[in-house]
Amino acid sequence: MPHTNELQLIENQGWDERIIVCRNGKLVDTFIVVTERFVVLVDTVINPQTAVQMLAWAQPHLTNGRQLLVVNTHADYDHCWGNQLFAGETAVQPAPIIGSHLSPPKFQQEEAATYLAKMKELEPEVFGEVVFTPPTLLIQDKFVIDGGDLTLELLPTPGHTDDHYSLFIPEIATLLAADAAEMPYPMARTPDGLSAMRESLAKLAALPAETVLYCHAPVTAGRQLLLDNIAYFNAIEAACRAAQAQGLLPELSEDVDVLTLVDCPWETAVPDTEAWQNVHNYYKTGGHAEQIRAMLHCLAQEN
Ligand SMILES: [Zn+2]
Repeated sequence: MPHTNELQLIENQGWDERIIVCRNGKLVDTFIVVTERFVVLVDTVINPQTAVQMLAWAQPHLTNGRQLLVVNTHADYDHCWGNQLFAGETAVQPAPIIGSHLSPPKFQQEEAATYLAKMKELEPEVFGEVVFTPPTLLIQDKFVIDGGDLTLELLPTPGHTDDHYSLFIPEIATLLAADAAEMPYPMARTPDGLSAMRESLAKLAALPAETVLYCHAPVTAGRQLLLDNIAYFNAIEAACRAAQAQGLLPELSEDVDVLTLVDCPWETAVPDTEAWQNVHNYYKTGGHAEQIRAMLHCLAQEN
């Protein structure tokens, strides 16, 4: 999918006015939260060009002594490759970048450097200027930002990645779930992550949130998406257990077509609405098969 340097402001559709939603093409939503004490950027999009647009929208709120803070929900490229505006030699508006203590090592990995080099080559106009900038204020466990009028609770929600955080704002019963839930489903980076991801989904669904915003879902998805994601994994689990009861081996070779071995058609695992039945074909086939494989792997760990 080609990327764009454009960032769009999303019109408020009923959430608290102190939350500003920014959208980068069809890829990702990021957020600006304006509190009495802080203006908090939740993620920095894909590059300095998109992050600078976020900063421009945050700027008018940096009044009355408010300080700028940056949060990285996790270290995937679509959430933190704009970090360089806020730390290091490239910084134009220095600010603490809060993120998981597990994030910085990810920038050091050889695969990460290779990935950036590949992206620079494929789309130089988008990724050419990206300089890896890990978060600078490292947290583990729950972390609270007391913004005065709003409290931002940063909650570890591993699974999609091990360094993943979601944000809950109790005063306005609002959850920024980031990639812990997605339309049509979140993806665990490793098969082992699936169990953690389901635990994180359950944890988020238990919060008293009335407004839920995601990085990869329509702003209208609401709290229901958390429940639909949970139901999807429950459906897969039930189908996998049934297949195993019939003698299906837990570890399957790469070339096995799991969709024929585990009876869990996409149509029955998701709500019977147009939006769900018409998701991109990949999610119903290859992506769905990958989730089933991960589930079989997790069930095998139980024994
Ligand atoms: Zn993402």
